[in-house]
Amino acid sequence: MEAEKNTGIEYTKSLVDRLAAVHTLELEEYEQLISAQNSETAAYAAKKADFFRKQIYGTDVFIRGLIEVGSCCKNDCLYCGIRKSNVNAERYVLTEEQILDCCREGYALGFRTFVLQGGEGMLPVGKICRTVKKIRSCFPDCAITLSLGEYSRSDYLKMFESGADRYLLRHETADSVHYRKLHPLEMSFENRMRCLKDLKEIGFQVGCGFMVGSPMQTAAALAKDLKFIEEFSPDMCGIGPFIPHKDTPFAKFPAGSVEQTCFLLSLIRLIKPNILLPSTTALGTIDPNGREKGILAGANVVMPNLSPIAVRKKYSLYDNKICTGDESAQCLKCLNGRLNAIGFQTVTSRGDIKR
Ligand code: SAH
Repeated sequence: MEAEKNTGIEYTKSLVDRLAAVHTLELEEYEQLISAQNSETAAYAAKKADFFRKQIYGTDVFIRGLIEVGSCCKNDCLYCGIRKSNVNAERYVLTEEQILDCCREGYALGFRTFVLQGGEGMLPVGKICRTVKKIRSCFPDCAITLSLGEYSRSDYLKMFESGADRYLLRHETADSVHYRKLHPLEMSFENRMRCLKDLKEIGFQVGCGFMVGSPMQTAAALAKDLKFIEEFSPDMCGIGPFIPHKDTPFAKFPAGSVEQTCFLLSLIRLIKPNILLPSTTALGTIDPNGREKGILAGANVVMPNLSPIAVRKKYSLYDNKICTGDESAQCLKCLNGRLNAIGFQTVTSRGDIKR
C-alpha cells in the first residue's frame, strides 16, 4: 500500500518535472496532476514555479490599479452577483471624470497600469474609446487594460486603435459542456472563444482565466483549462476561487479552495514561465493570507482597488469581498507590507510581459 502511494507521488513529481522542462503535457496527464494534488505535490510544483518566476521577474510584483467602472450588466451568468436578474444588485456607472480621478489618484501612488473593468455591454464602444483616448493623453507612460466583456471584432479594433494595450477576458471554462452549466442559453462558449482569438489577432496583450472550484467543475474540465492556456499562450491569466453570492442560483455551492487555486497557479507558471499571473482579490477573500500564498505559489501581479469608495460595495461579484472600505493608498500600503513580509516588493512600472 505504502509503496503504491509513493509510486503515485513519484509519478506525479515526474509529471511536474516534465512540465517544467518542456512546458506541455497530454490532456490526461494534466487531469492526473490535478487529481493527485496534495500538500507534497503542491509544494513540489510551487518550488519549481518560484524558481521560474524569480529567474524572470525576481522578487518584483507588478501592481495594476483596478477601476470598477460600472455594475450594470446585460448578462445573466449564474455565478455572478451583478447578473442582470439580481434585483438586489445596486447599479452604477462611473463618469469619465470619475474614472480619470481614479487614474490621477493611482498615478500619484505609483500605478502605471489601469484596468477598467465592469459589467458586460454596459459601456457603448464610443464611450469606451473616448475614455481610453483621454487616459492615453493624460498618462502616456501608463498601460491601459480593458475587462469589459464580449464585443464584436470591429469594436475591439476601435478600442485598440484608441490606445488600449491589454484586454482581460476570462474564458471561464474551456469545457463547452461545463460552460453551458454556468451560463444562460443566450451566451455561448464559441463567442467567448471567438473574442479571445480576435483580441489576440488585433494585437492586444490578452488575458484569459477561470474560476477554481466553480459549481460542477471536474478535474477533466480543469485539465482542459490548462491545455487551453498551453495552446492559446495568453500574456496574462486570471484565476481565483469561485465564491458564492447570496443572490445567485449558485448561492448554496461551496467556495473553491486556496490549496487548489495555488496548485493551479504553480502549474500555469510552469506551462508559461513568463506569464503575468495575478494573485487575486478572491483568493484574499477566502483566506486572510490568500494573496501571499498565491505569490508564493508563483503569481507575480496584484490588482488593488482604485474605485471610488462609494461604489466599491456595489461592485459585488461574490460575498464578503475584501478592501471595499479602504482608501486606495491604505490598500497599497497594506499590500506592500504583506509582500515585504514574504520577501517581495511592488514596483512602479507598466509591468509588461518579459519576452
Ligand atoms: N464582465 C466582464 C468582467 C467582469 S467579471 C467579463 O465578462 O469579462 C470579472 C470576473 O469575475 C469574471 O470573469 C469571473 O471569472 C469572476 N467572478 C464572477 N463571479 C464570481 C464569483 N461568484 N466568484 C468568483 N469569481 C467570480
